Formats: sequence, structure tokens, C-alpha cells
Amino acid sequence: MKVSEETQAYCTSCREMREHIIVAMVGPKPAKVECLSCHKQHLYRAAPPGTPTPRAAGATTRTPKAKAAAPAPAPAFDLGARIAGRTARAYSPDATFAVDEVVRHPNFGTGLVLALPAKQKVEIAFPSGSKLLMHDRKNARPSTLEHPPVREDDGGQRNPTDAPPRSRH
Ligand SMILES: [Zn+2]
Repeated sequence: MKVSEETQAYCTSCREMREHIIVAMVGPKPAKVECLSCHKQHLYRAAPPGTPTPRAAGATTRTPKAKAAAPAPAPAFDLGARIAGRTARAYSPDATFAVDEVVRHPNFGTGLVLALPAKQKVEIAFPSGSKLLMHDRKNARPSTLEHPPVREDDGGQRNPTDAPPRSRH
């Protein structure tokens, strides 16, 4: 809308809706109009008194926008789907596993590595539930697994020609 355009408005003289010519604008809205019937200039009224303006009606009937969709829930852990078609490595405490590896255990069945919560510990999800198992044993200190621990309190009785630990390699 702009000055000199015609617009429907309420005429305060005729007391009904009439065609008006816009005489003055304030911002995007007509401020003053001239009635084409009685040729009186008066303040622009978009509707008869008592009629809610479209803007007010819109404000009162506006419904709050639906809350933003909640983040999609994490999909249920589907072990079968996660390991389907994948090659499983046989579980062995000497093997080293990585997260998301598929592992076949002689007792627990086929599972998926969930986490490596600690050194030489591997958490594997099996159909019966998750288990905390040993792995990576070969990287554990060999002396504590394959040889008796060296006693440090022998009062110097240790053999000075202490041979290096036997190696199986
Ligand atoms: Zn009029």
C-alpha cells in the first residue's frame, strides 16, 4: 500500500466500510485516508470499531509452536544386527581386541566388543549380557604370568648371574 492507492477502510463519517484513498502513510500502514463517498479525510481504520484487527486476532489465536522435536532416542542395542555378517575372531585371553570387534567365545557365544575399560580388560556384549573378560594377556608383565615373581626380600641371596627370563619365542 502507498499514498494515493485505494483501500477499503472504515469511514468515521459514513460509519461503514468504504473505498478510501490513502492520504498519508506511517511506515507500512495507511495513517490518513480520504473517503470516496463523503470525501472526508480521517484516520485510517481497517475495520469498524469493535472488530478485532487482524493483527490482534492473530495474536490471541496464535498457538504456541510445538516444542522442537526431542532428539531421536538412541536405537536399542541390537547385538544380532551389529554382528550379522561379520567375521568373528575367536576369543583368547592372549588376543588383543578393539572396540567394535566381533568376538566368538566358546561359552558365551558371539559378541561385540563394547569397551576397553582397563588394561587387559575387554567388555564384550554377548547374547546373554555383557561380560568383562581378560585380553591382551601377552602384553602383561611376563614375569608374573609365566615365571614365579622375583622376590625382592631375599636379602641379597639372588643369584648375581640372574639369567634373562626364558623366552618361548
Ligand atoms: Zn465516508
